[in-house]
Amino acid sequence: MALRSIHPGDTIGILGGGQLGRMLAVAASRLGLRSHIYAPESGPAFDIATEYTIGSYDDQAALTRFADQVAVVTYEFENVPASTAAILQSRCAVHPNPNALSKSQDRLIEKTFLNSLGIPTAPFLQVDDAGSLARAVGQLGRPSILKSRCLGYDGKGQSLIKEGSDLAVTFRSLGGQLAILEGMVDFTREISVIAARGIDGSFAAWDICENVHEHHILAVTRAPANVPAQIAEKASAIARTILDALDYVGVMGVEMFHVEKARLDGGKDHHLLVNEIAPRVHNSGHWTLDGAVTSQFEQHIRAICGWPLGSTKAHGPVEMRNLIGNDVDMWLELLKEPGLCLHLYGKHEARPGRKMGHFTRIYLKP
Ligand code: AMP
Repeated sequence: MALRSIHPGDTIGILGGGQLGRMLAVAASRLGLRSHIYAPESGPAFDIATEYTIGSYDDQAALTRFADQVAVVTYEFENVPASTAAILQSRCAVHPNPNALSKSQDRLIEKTFLNSLGIPTAPFLQVDDAGSLARAVGQLGRPSILKSRCLGYDGKGQSLIKEGSDLAVTFRSLGGQLAILEGMVDFTREISVIAARGIDGSFAAWDICENVHEHHILAVTRAPANVPAQIAEKASAIARTILDALDYVGVMGVEMFHVEKARLDGGKDHHLLVNEIAPRVHNSGHWTLDGAVTSQFEQHIRAICGWPLGSTKAHGPVEMRNLIGNDVDMWLELLKEPGLCLHLYGKHEARPGRKMGHFTRIYLKP
């Protein structure tokens, strides 16, 4: 299949109709592109897209029609089935390439891949049944975390193993899914790198983000993270290693733990462990919409179109807060605050734990 260059006026295809797809479609339209959303059900992105298809991810005929109508396909979530990606790839360009999907859909494959690049993670062991869980707990100790290998996000598919936890009951709580056991990391902070790689191998990362989770869901991101300059550089270099290894095109979020250990001489040793890679635009990069020259959404569109990457320079220190569930009822109050940037995703029902919007405060340099 000959790849053709992409121009304003062309249509980009996006798998998934959530808020990330919506913000990608907005960025695409700003660059004169049209967008076509493909998703199994209607969602926030449908309000913005030029066209949409409601179809399942195994509907070969619908996927083929979709691929034939777009110049390039991208996705807003990592659990795109491999068979779906293969159908699309046989007919048009798919960025990021599906190798990134296969590496990030299964925690065992993901962490083994990271370690093979020399990138440290939390210690982990494969758990296929209650017996292997008992042996893994024997090795990694308590507390430790049992995580399903696939389809876990925002803390779903995870169980904390403490003193006294019944291992057979804990294993059953995952519904018999294949899992890994992870050693508990005593981290100082959670950080993420939002970075992009272009088709020509160019690389650009924004300021490192510092993330606070509440009930396993991202609540606040501050950038730049409160880490020494050499740790910020190291975090960015780790992200580059991952993107290069995958021959990645687009924006990726790399979540890390920053661990500080006091030394006898009074100084500190710093370690970075990668927790997760997200082969897509990432919630902790939403601040770039208002706080940087180029947003992660625009950058992703630029990258998948084979266009030059934009500047990732920040306008100043920023804080982004998610509006989860009923938090969104504050929208009118928030609009009264001068300088605050509010983004609402157009979701009709504010269910608990549902991301309804976010807002950003930029602390402009005087
Ligand atoms: P995950 O689904 O792997 O992103 O985990 C969700 C959250 O659980 C992370 O953002 C951390 O706050 C916490 N967490 C996950 N794994 C570990 C670990 N090995 N040690 C300590 N905290 C963890």
